[in-house]
Amino acid sequence: MSATGFSHHFARELDVEQLLELMKLGSGIDQSDTIDPVPPAWLEHIRTDVECPSCFVRGAVLVRGARSTRTGKALRQAHFRFIGSDGQDAHHPLCDFYHSGAPASRNEHAVDFGSDKSALARAVRKLVCSGIELGVFDQIAMRDLRKWFFEKRLQNRFDLALTPEAVDWYSKLMAYASSGLPFRPVHGELARLDWKQAARQRLRERHAQLVASPLRVYGWPKEAGRAKALIIKHANQRVFDPASLQSYYAQTISLVRFAASHYPALAISQRQLYDVGVDDRMRALMALCALLLNVSGWSTDLAVEKLITLINAPEPRTTTLGNMIGLNPFHDYVAWSLIRHLSDAVAGADINFDHDGEIAAIEHGLRAEHEEWRARKS
Ligand SMILES: [Zn+2]
Repeated sequence: MSATGFSHHFARELDVEQLLELMKLGSGIDQSDTIDPVPPAWLEHIRTDVECPSCFVRGAVLVRGARSTRTGKALRQAHFRFIGSDGQDAHHPLCDFYHSGAPASRNEHAVDFGSDKSALARAVRKLVCSGIELGVFDQIAMRDLRKWFFEKRLQNRFDLALTPEAVDWYSKLMAYASSGLPFRPVHGELARLDWKQAARQRLRERHAQLVASPLRVYGWPKEAGRAKALIIKHANQRVFDPASLQSYYAQTISLVRFAASHYPALAISQRQLYDVGVDDRMRALMALCALLLNVSGWSTDLAVEKLITLINAPEPRTTTLGNMIGLNPFHDYVAWSLIRHLSDAVAGADINFDHDGEIAAIEHGLRAEHEEWRARKS
């Protein structure tokens, strides 16, 4: 169930009420009239006209919103269902809405470019409005980006066989700072030896290969919780391989940082500049930069040129042009990168991912080494 659909007739992504308003405008019906029920001819048109914003399947069935007559509370949000000729869910298995139990869910990658909730959101909206006004991009270009992203997802997949415990285990392993000297039995002679610390040091030595080739994606420790949730949700499935987005992600991050550093309306803190890829507040700017790069054939030079045009453009005549749903292809990119990296790194290794158990066993072993050494010495 999707809250929005892409109408070919109106060439844009719309929610149910927006679509009905536009159809009303085109049909000459009095604007004050409510459309209830929706005429069968309209429903038939919607079925062939409106496609899923994520997987592009047609066959939209319009479901009106419902409110409780007693409390006025919304019981159901208006949405589109996509049903095949066999009466089954028509979404592609990789679509965000495939077997989505959530009522009227929005695509997790979707970004509301029309939002005015923060200074940053308003600044992005201004750039989006200018972009449409100046013909730098339009709703069709937006659909092209979604198509590009969906094709990447179709073509690049891997089998998820990781457990959530592996993420915790890896996060702890990588968080330990190396204290330098490896454990030797004589260390046990120190009255205040930190045995736990010695055990952690040994753990890092035991997994030296993993430690030596860490995941080089900034901000991944913050995404460990999200990675675990994704592993649980997609256990043993064929999932999207984020490695195919690596260079595109780097380009988008660079463009976001460039924009934020040179356009005062987008000014963000140093912290946020670092956290661009994992800070939810940055998703609208990520989506705008991905769009600029995609309409530039992923040439950073061309995208920067377009960005500067938007920054220098006069105030747009209307902000309603910004009522467009953007796409951040890099939503969860860091979490998925962690999953992919870890999947490769531990493939075939004999690790049971019980961190505390492993540390306790190592400590036990170190104490035994010390005892043995002592016995030999005396
Ligand atoms: Zn779909």
